[in-house]
Amino acid sequence: METHLKKERTLIIIKPDGIQRTLIGEIIKRYERTGLKLVAVKTVVSSEDHIEKHYTLDPNWRRVTGEKTIASYEKKGLKPPSEDPLEITAVILENLKKYMTSGPIIVMIWEGAHAVKIVRKITGGTEPLTSDVGTIRGDFVLDSYQISDNDKRAVRNLIHASGSVEEAEMEINHWFKKDEIIDYRLVQEQIIYDVNLDGILE
Ligand code: ADP
Ligand code: MG
Repeated sequence: METHLKKERTLIIIKPDGIQRTLIGEIIKRYERTGLKLVAVKTVVSSEDHIEKHYTLDPNWRRVTGEKTIASYEKKGLKPPSEDPLEITAVILENLKKYMTSGPIIVMIWEGAHAVKIVRKITGGTEPLTSDVGTIRGDFVLDSYQISDNDKRAVRNLIHASGSVEEAEMEINHWFKKDEIIDYRLVQEQIIYDVNLDGILE
């Protein structure tokens, strides 16, 4: 259990706007400084088919994302584009395919304790308008559902990050072959995880 927790993995994608905004270094820095370990990375131009599969690996994604969008409109006292979550996600998915294939993206696997939750916390909520200050989406971008839905495009929020451990496992298999993922030790893992800190003092 213990070892497994420390080996948790999550998938992060720097989306085309993250690269175009020249935020690669800034984004990676924020994940790296937590103590998480980068175990795989590649730059790719994806296909619409690969992106559609990525977002629909989780059979609930269509419903949940539609409901999340409706709730966010209602919370602001606005009328959602449709009352049907699946109708909303059908449009989102089409727009996402265009967005995610519009340029290069960087796909990464990060590993360490609570990797999924830690990365979601640093990334921030989906809609930049309401993402917390201090998160990447809160600090570096200003889009909203209202503007993106009006303009018939995906919300530009710089990053994709797995939403759960199960989602992360499916996404990692979707983007990486086993031999592209590297098992190695970081010297700093001793101070992050080891119970016995003997050997520091001379
Ligand atoms: P997250 O990326 O935070 O996990 P979701 O899985 O709910 O968010 O949605 C995937 C992506 O789809 C979002 O990051 C965003 O780019 C886009 N998206 C989600 N909801 C909407 C929406 N209502 N309008 C436009 N784009 C959206
Ligand atoms: Mg998601």
